Amino acid sequence: MVTNKIKMNCILCNSSDVKVLEEIEPSILKEIYEQKGIKVKQFFTSKDLNLCECGSCQLLYFTPPAVGDGAFYGELQQKINGYYLKEKEDFVMAARHINSGESVLEIGCGEGNFTNYITTDNYVGLEFNEDAIAIAQKKGLNVINQSIEDFAKQNPEKYDVACYFQVLEHVPEPSQFITESLKCLKKGGKLIFAVPSEDTFLRFGVNLFLNAPPHHITRWRDAVFTEMQKSFPIKLKAVIHEKLHRIHHVFYLQCTIYESLRKILGIPFKNFVRNDDKSYSLFKISFLLSKILSPVYFLFKKDAIGQSVIVVYEKE
Ligand SMILES: [Zn+2]
Repeated sequence: MVTNKIKMNCILCNSSDVKVLEEIEPSILKEIYEQKGIKVKQFFTSKDLNLCECGSCQLLYFTPPAVGDGAFYGELQQKINGYYLKEKEDFVMAARHINSGESVLEIGCGEGNFTNYITTDNYVGLEFNEDAIAIAQKKGLNVINQSIEDFAKQNPEKYDVACYFQVLEHVPEPSQFITESLKCLKKGGKLIFAVPSEDTFLRFGVNLFLNAPPHHITRWRDAVFTEMQKSFPIKLKAVIHEKLHRIHHVFYLQCTIYESLRKILGIPFKNFVRNDDKSYSLFKISFLLSKILSPVYFLFKKDAIGQSVIVVYEKE
């Protein structure tokens, strides 16, 4: 494990207590994406990519941030099976925290599917993807192409709820993003967001390219949600992990088996390795084992948690 301190302050809490957990070769990520038919080299302008850990707020983040554009996300939708599968459970869990009639701002709302889960006459969605906006508007939804920064200037303290689902982990400046979204909330209003959890099986995976730039910039442990109360005027109300989806049974078990075998064999953990690395071979063997074992394993393992975590705060 690399533990050298780096100079840049944490992108969430601004602490200088930041260390590098792993130095990643961007070329590994470029090669993985190329195998999927997606070009990403234009996003990696630096030859370095570090996975950092903040010793203060516990956030994990990649620096320098390499951020994908609209065309990149369009390709993911076309070329990665089930890319948009993940949000349904988030919507169900979040909707339980929104009362009928409350005004709702959703940032990065896509086609506005969350509105199917809530009852309100006062909804606005912000979205950059013009195709998604057109679909949402056809459904009669108030969805506009505007940044949260511009929207917050015009709509201070106006909403009961500000929410974003699977958005925050893509944002290179999460501190600013959260601050701007809080500006739109009334005092006592609710901030609700969903991110992939770093406290689940995902953290044991090898070459999980979607959990790194240019897709994800940050990784969120539950500890971060508590620490965030020190950096923002918010009070933590709930942290809810989704249950593991059936379609992720094999993936979950693969990561879990890999983590056990890796420890037994004394192989140090690395997030990204080349195909000829022994940890990648072990990860593939773990896949075969998990295919065989998962039907039996999940007869007994009923409490496995899934990828997503929902967090609810109240604005002070
Ligand atoms: Zn921090």
